[in-house]
Amino acid sequence: MVPSISRRAFIKGGLAAAGTVAASGVPARAARLDERRQLATLLDISKCVGCEACVEACREVNEEKKPNPRKPFPAMYPPRVKVEDWSDKKDVSDRLTPYNWLFIQSAAVEIDGKEKTLTLPRRCMHCANPPCVKLCPWGAAQQLENGIARIDADICLGGSKCKAVCPWSIPQRQTGTGLYLDLLPSLAGNGVMYKCDRCYDRVADGELPACIEACPEEVQTIGPRPEIIKKAHQLAKETGGYIYGETENGGTNTIYVSPVPFETLNRQIEKGSGRPHLKSVAATMEQADKLVAAMLIAPFAGAIAAAGKYYKMFKSTKEEGAPNE
Ligand code: SF4
Ligand code: SF4
Ligand code: SF4
Repeated sequence: MVPSISRRAFIKGGLAAAGTVAASGVPARAARLDERRQLATLLDISKCVGCEACVEACREVNEEKKPNPRKPFPAMYPPRVKVEDWSDKKDVSDRLTPYNWLFIQSAAVEIDGKEKTLTLPRRCMHCANPPCVKLCPWGAAQQLENGIARIDADICLGGSKCKAVCPWSIPQRQTGTGLYLDLLPSLAGNGVMYKCDRCYDRVADGELPACIEACPEEVQTIGPRPEIIKKAHQLAKETGGYIYGETENGGTNTIYVSPVPFETLNRQIEKGSGRPHLKSVAATMEQADKLVAAMLIAPFAGAIAAAGKYYKMFKSTKEEGAPNE
């Protein structure tokens, strides 16, 4: 079994294994995480001190992936598509933006009769069955074998379907960048969608995602999903805690354990555009799979009805989690 890894364990393991590198010829770090299995992260909210070292590390490490839009922007097509420009607000770090893929949410709660502020890192949940990937009309979003959901900025046209179908409205659009600039003159979207790619390139090189490596409190652990789920349950049992992400949207590869119920956290966090909720979420893709089946067997009118029902279901999921645009 491939063990799950916290920052300390990773560093220790890497160093311990370093001695064997020369003999085996295999880089020690590349052997740490099994790329062929769905990897999940466990976030122990009780350990987070809100220092934002993870946010800074994410920005620094992923700097080169961030948009560099061409200005002035070409006329939007169709004209109803809104300009979304964060290029003059790159420093915003208290919400998700195309330049900020991770931020810290805080919640004032009461634990054992004492007031306390809990802080938690928020980013893409990397759903096990991600609607952003499955429903992208251009195939710009992909799920890697190791469970990472990523949007390819070279293919994305910024149409925002991924955000519309994401229960947490995670992807964020930047206008004036990407493939659309070289097509027609422009196609719906007029930009590119951005979000956490769980440092897929670092993970492929055997490194930890930057936010995990930078955290001084070892809030996050990464490992094969079944093992992470087991650890989450152990932790919740030991601390009387609560779990989020195991079943949300049919299961995600981001599992939070909190000392207070997530309903309480959800009430207390600031929610809205770029600030995702913490509500329970139905398995949206199960409905999509049913839709595909309906489309295969139903006559045309039935398929349209099934599609309508499906989009209504998505809309109500989003409304439950509102206000998230
Ligand atoms: S670096 Fe760790 S402790 Fe600091 S805010 Fe991020 S998760 Fe919390
Ligand atoms: S949280 Fe949203 S953006 Fe992330 S994988 Fe799930 S559906 Fe996609
Ligand atoms: S996994 Fe990588 S891209 Fe995602 S939030 Fe952490 S540092 Fe940023």
